[in-house]
This record gives sequence, structure tokens and C-alpha cells, in this order.
Amino acid sequence: MTNPFSLENKIALVTGGGSGIGYEITRCLRDAGAKVIITGRRENMLQEAVNNIGDNVFYEVNDVTDLNKTTELVESITQKYGEIDILVNNAGINMKKPAVDVTDAEFNNIIQTNLTSVFALSREVAKRMISRKTGSIIMISSMAGYYGIDRVPAYTASKSGIEGLTKALASDWSKFGVRVNAIAPGFIETAMMQTAMNSDPDRMNKALGRTPMAKFGKPEDIGHAAVFLASEAASYITGVSLRVDGGNAIGF
Ligand code: NDP
Repeated sequence: MTNPFSLENKIALVTGGGSGIGYEITRCLRDAGAKVIITGRRENMLQEAVNNIGDNVFYEVNDVTDLNKTTELVESITQKYGEIDILVNNAGINMKKPAVDVTDAEFNNIIQTNLTSVFALSREVAKRMISRKTGSIIMISSMAGYYGIDRVPAYTASKSGIEGLTKALASDWSKFGVRVNAIAPGFIETAMMQTAMNSDPDRMNKALGRTPMAKFGKPEDIGHAAVFLASEAASYITGVSLRVDGGNAIGF
């Protein structure tokens, strides 16, 4: 019997795959059998990830906010490695600041990175998936997509946007064989979380206090969820946001 979780012969693109959650998503997809292409702005970090993860992982330097390079990126990957079966929109940035101090430029930069670029890349990849009548697109959302978080206005708006975009694109593209889902991580131990916690020492205890499992998640927890959503095991699942958060979003 074939393993429904296998990603043998699949080609995956993971944005921001050189570090943190993206790195572990890459490792898990590769371990499940996929060939994985990772992107990011820092070539040294991408090269290091490729060296560390090993076989079947490749990189392209790309800034997701360069929207005029999106088509070129997808064409270049397709020519070098083949058609993309799995897209994981993982690249993201955050900033914590009182809302009254956030400038338009800062707000727009976060929206452009976390939301506009996700739409642009998904659209470009989906055009090809739709003509092949197969594909899985996974958005990395956040609990910020569910809650209002103080001093995080742009990130919260961007991740709420991702929640809506996931449903809209799933509604549009699922009839053509392209599934679109999101993963909403809770507190996951990465550089991004460390920076957020360091700027607010009390936050660590508060975060643990409001997580029913009373521990932080690991990047591979998100990687395993991505393998599931990308695979045939999830072939009747589209438009969902899968919370991988130790129960955080249950409430009290
Ligand atoms: P990291 O800061 O560790 O990694 C972010 C990655 O995104 C880096 O590899 C970075 O590479 C890449 N990136 C950022 N901006 C761009 C850009 N303009 N173009 C291309 N790549 C870019 O963060 P995490 O691993 O923690 O976060 C990954 C995702 O998970 C994000 O979408 C985040 O919102 C989400 N998330 C994280 C949570 C957590 O607790 N850690 C909780 C909920 C959601 P480079 O700088 O080289 O470009």
C-alpha cells in the first residue's frame, strides 16, 4: 500500500526556508521525499541550510517584496527543478511598537512582506497548478490571525489577512485541484519569538500561562503539520487553518 504521507517525486518551494520554522518545514518535507527549493534574502544562511539539511534541498536568493521578480522566480525554479507541487508561504517579519508610533512605511512593509507578496507568489504558482489540476498551497499564519495583539498592529492585520486569503483562494482554486490551507503556529521557539520575548521579559511567563500545554512549540511541530497538509493524507482538506499552538486558541 502506498504511504499517503509520502511526498516522493514532489517539488516544494518554501519561502524563508533558511531559518527557524521554514528550515524545519524544509527538513520535514525533504524527509518525506520531496525535493525542496528554499528562498530568502541572506545567501549565507540559505547556503548553510542547504549544507546542513543535505540531499535534495536547493536555494534561490529572493526578496518576496520584489513583486516584479515573482514571475521570474517561479519560471526559473520550474525550468531548473520541474513544476512546483507544494508552495509554503512561510517568510514573515514582525515588529512590536505602540500603534501610535508605527509609521506608514513600517506598516506597509509588514503588509507587503506578510500578505501582498503571499498573494502574488500564490497567484503565480497557482496558474501553473491549475493547468496541471493539482497542487497544495500552505500559508504560515499565526495566532495573531485570531486575536488582537497589543503593540503589533501591522503583523496582526497581515495574519488576519492571511486567514481570509486562505479561505478566498481555497474557494476559488479548489475546484481546479489546488488545495489552499493555513497553519497557525502558537509560540514556537525561533529567533523571531526570542526577539519578541527579549523586548518584553514578562511576556514569556504570560505566554506559557495562557498555553494549556504549558510549553512552547518546536519548529518541527510546524514541519510535521506541513507534511500532512501537503500530502495525499489531506486530499479532502482545503480552506482550513490548522492551529498548532499547544491549545492556545482554545481560550480559558
Ligand atoms: P524567523 O525570523 O526565524 O524566519 C523568517 C524567515 O523569513 C527568514 O528565513 C527570513 O530570511 C525570511 N524572510 C523575511 N523577510 C523576507 C523577505 N522580504 N523575503 C524573503 N524572505 C524573507 O521567523 P520564524 O521562523 O519564527 O517565522 C516564520 C513564519 O512563522 C513567519 O511567517 C511568522 O510570522 C510565523 N510565525 C512564527 C511564530 C513563532 O512563534 N516563531 C508564531 C506564529 C507565526 P532572510 O532574512 O534571509 O530574508
